[in-house]
Amino acid sequence: MNIHEYQAKSLLRKHGVPVPNGHAVFSPEQAGEIAYKEFASKGTKVIVLKSQIHAGGRGKGVVHDIHTDKPLQVDDKDVRGVSVLTSGNLADRAYKLAKATIGNKLVTIQTGKEGKVVRRMFIEEGVNIAKEYYLSILLDRNTSQNLIMASTEGGMEIEEVAEHHPEKIIREHIDPVIGFRGFQARRLGMGLGLTGDALKNFVPFIQTLYRAYEDMDCAMLEVNPLVRTNDDKWIALDAKVTFDDNALYRHPEYAELRDTSEEEPLEIEASKYDLNYIKLDGNVGCMVNGAGLAMATMDVIQLAGGKPANFLDVGGGANVNRIANAFRIMLSDPNVKAVFINIFGGIVRCDRVANGIIQASKEVQLTVPCIIRLDGTNAPEAREILEKSGLTFSVGTTLEEAAAKVKQTVDKL
Ligand code: ADP
Ligand code: MG
Repeated sequence: MNIHEYQAKSLLRKHGVPVPNGHAVFSPEQAGEIAYKEFASKGTKVIVLKSQIHAGGRGKGVVHDIHTDKPLQVDDKDVRGVSVLTSGNLADRAYKLAKATIGNKLVTIQTGKEGKVVRRMFIEEGVNIAKEYYLSILLDRNTSQNLIMASTEGGMEIEEVAEHHPEKIIREHIDPVIGFRGFQARRLGMGLGLTGDALKNFVPFIQTLYRAYEDMDCAMLEVNPLVRTNDDKWIALDAKVTFDDNALYRHPEYAELRDTSEEEPLEIEASKYDLNYIKLDGNVGCMVNGAGLAMATMDVIQLAGGKPANFLDVGGGANVNRIANAFRIMLSDPNVKAVFINIFGGIVRCDRVANGIIQASKEVQLTVPCIIRLDGTNAPEAREILEKSGLTFSVGTTLEEAAAKVKQTVDKL
């Protein structure tokens, strides 16, 4: 689960990590009001207006009109996803920029050219930046350890640094039993070329940040840029947080941080029924039980010349209702031109699955070819039920046979 920058910063602040003061706003009027009340009237000289979307690269991204797709301008300048305001009437400028941004879409390197609609913005005090650095903490699945990565190349995408200057990324793996040790914090700081107060202040900063990562149950915490100020203090200027979904049950308070407008609508719908559904961009919908079989099925579709439209694992104990819902969700994707159902009846009996499919195809208009392979407990009964249903399914007994049918179908698309 991902959250917005302003939410991440508010959590980090609670965990003792220094972040700039800021307020989220939801309308241009509110942007103008907050810019005046909280900042300009209190003597703040520099404010920063930041679009809140679940994607990075906002600083270089440009806001486009939602209807015409044309880049938007205020005072003859492109409206960007991050604007640093240093002069003029700050409240008035914040209002104008927010008016141009909210409800329109921001196109960045990470959103793709279709962009993302901006519904919230964040107004923050400007920070005096001596230098920008890169810092992230994530779970390294190869070593089963948390990994801290740091670089002097702040503000750049880390993928870019990894490609062109891999030597500029320094890494520390954290032993889960021993934890993050002082010498590792110092080694990171020295790796960044820090000395004196900058190094002295970096050590507690990174230790606090690491503790926040653990206590918040993150799967990833990226601070890019991490900023060193002119007086050698450290501030998280940007924050991208991904929670570990398996730990969400420990944090019921995170539920309200969810912004479903940022998520794939079909995936939200699927999560209501406990279905593991991930939308992909192919044309063959697949419905499978068990993640391993789902992956094998996607491979088979690919080998047959098709492209999976989704990953969908209905789970071991799939009942009729679940199958019906899975069917409905899969078919609501307009890209789906054929469906392949591949279920192994271990706990769930194949005849039940067959009845579920029949019931579901009565509820949802099945307008695309559907290939079914059911194997395991009561497979022959299931086949009979499907054949007698009068519905036009194509039934395969073995995976090979079903794959051949998928191929025939795909070839005709
Ligand atoms: P993104 O990564 O989406 O481009 P960032 O939050 O990293 O967005 O902001 C982009 C750049 O804008 C930063 O690298 C920094 O130079 C500048 N910036 C962001 N927030 C502030 C701030 N509070 N004060 C000063 N400059 C800022
Ligand atoms: Mg950033």
